[in-house]
Amino acid sequence: MEGVIFDIKHYALHDGPGIRQTVFLKGCPLSCWWCHNPESRSRQPFTYVKEEKLDGRIVRETETVGYKIPVDELLDTIERDTLLFEESGGGVTFSGGEPLLQFDFLKTVLQQCRQREIHTCVDTTAYTEPEKLEAVARYTNLFLVDIKHMNEAAHRKFTGVSNRQILDNIRQLDRWDKTIIIRYPLIPGINDDESNLLQMMAFLSKLQQKPEISILPYHKIGSHKYARFGMEYKMNGVEEPSAEAVEEVKTLFENGGFSVNIGG
Ligand code: SF4
Repeated sequence: MEGVIFDIKHYALHDGPGIRQTVFLKGCPLSCWWCHNPESRSRQPFTYVKEEKLDGRIVRETETVGYKIPVDELLDTIERDTLLFEESGGGVTFSGGEPLLQFDFLKTVLQQCRQREIHTCVDTTAYTEPEKLEAVARYTNLFLVDIKHMNEAAHRKFTGVSNRQILDNIRQLDRWDKTIIIRYPLIPGINDDESNLLQMMAFLSKLQQKPEISILPYHKIGSHKYARFGMEYKMNGVEEPSAEAVEEVKTLFENGGFSVNIGG
């Protein structure tokens, strides 16, 4: 069995506990305006023409984003960092894109990691069938789940899909006693209004386990990729939040009784 990935990051520090290896699977059902990995969206590898200035000349070469990888090869790569995982309390994180789009591949790799006693984390949009989430949850130690907007119409506008399935799946994960860290991408003018934040806290307060919240402040890193890949960038004019604005949101969540970190 093969999966399609577009990157493997070693020594990752922000995708779960300890030092981790993060595997980025290709394909995403969402199309968030602020996505800094737009190359993750298509399920299949693709090629584009890369332009670079070299000695005053423009040099063009074709580059491919994404590649197929068999389960065994990926497991070999993961296992190379086992010692690091053991020493740091880390493990492997599957991210994307949306890793559950490659359900069979993801489940198989997770099962194999469980057999090897490697800590596993799935970074998901939760925009998936609950049956798939449940099957994967059996072999997952920790879920990182985004809440991008509580308002359904706004969620549709900025991500292309409804948030209903996502919120239902977060409730399900909580019912199954899974450990969840909620990731909130803080984007000025899009989802940082008090009403949205209060709705999010009200929703999270009803869960059995109060999840930790990671605030991910919007940044423009990756915006140049849109032109490179011939995609439309819709965030022109949106500024990165100030450190004070991020702290204010952090304090609001903390006052609501949540444990909060900035940056994952
Ligand atoms: S869910 Fe993540 S990978 Fe998918 S479009 Fe949104 S930001 Fe990009």
